[in-house]
Amino acid sequence: MPRFDAGYVPRSAMAIYAHPDDIEFTVAGTVAKWARAGCEVTFVLITSGNAGTHDRKFTRKSLARMREREERESARILGAARVVFLHHDDCELVPTLALRKELVRRIRRHRPEVVLCNDPQALFFDDRYVNHPDHLAAGKAALEAVFPCAEMELLWPGAGLPHKVHAVYVSSTAAPDTWIDVTDTVETKIAALSAHRSQLGDRDISPMILEWARDEARRAPAPKAAGKKVPARPRYAEAFRVMRLLRDEPTKDND
Ligand SMILES: [Zn+2]
Repeated sequence: MPRFDAGYVPRSAMAIYAHPDDIEFTVAGTVAKWARAGCEVTFVLITSGNAGTHDRKFTRKSLARMREREERESARILGAARVVFLHHDDCELVPTLALRKELVRRIRRHRPEVVLCNDPQALFFDDRYVNHPDHLAAGKAALEAVFPCAEMELLWPGAGLPHKVHAVYVSSTAAPDTWIDVTDTVETKIAALSAHRSQLGDRDISPMILEWARDEARRAPAPKAAGKKVPARPRYAEAFRVMRLLRDEPTKDND
């Protein structure tokens, strides 16, 4: 059932993505909104994007160093509490059991209420973009780590105490069912993206981001309100497919 998610703020959230700048392109408005409202946000970057350039002046090592710096700056702008780099190689990511276990370890350590990740089924976007294999691999590994592995007592006891994630917010999905109003944080999203100078140079990214967020807001269903006054449709939104793994927790309040 498509819905406009007006007010839910998790106590803690973990965004698990493949590359520095993935969080910024996809979910940064939501992350900044939640962080502003007191959510403790952890970024987990599986690679440091160490192949992500056509500029021959970089080595993989120097590029990774620069992109980690950019990600830290961006996380600061978005209000994230911490950034974790797992240092896998860019463009070589596969959802192995070893990667799943690494993610379980992080989930059990930081115990997020919500995990955000990519949709591992979203292979094509319009007729212009074939999804990066690392995005698909990161999304698959994240979902497998969340369910069932992180919560299974007998599985990998050395990786920490079991933890049940309440909900997964799946981004870049062909099947969105939830839209979050990011009108108040879309400029913060643009500022965070602009920190990724190795990827964007001096390019003004704001027209593209505003257009994406405007398109998503148009797709969002009309907001509903329990009281008399119905809130206005947002100007800017981010879209998710939300999997509610703990049905009786606060995620249900917005129904
Ligand atoms: Zn990416």
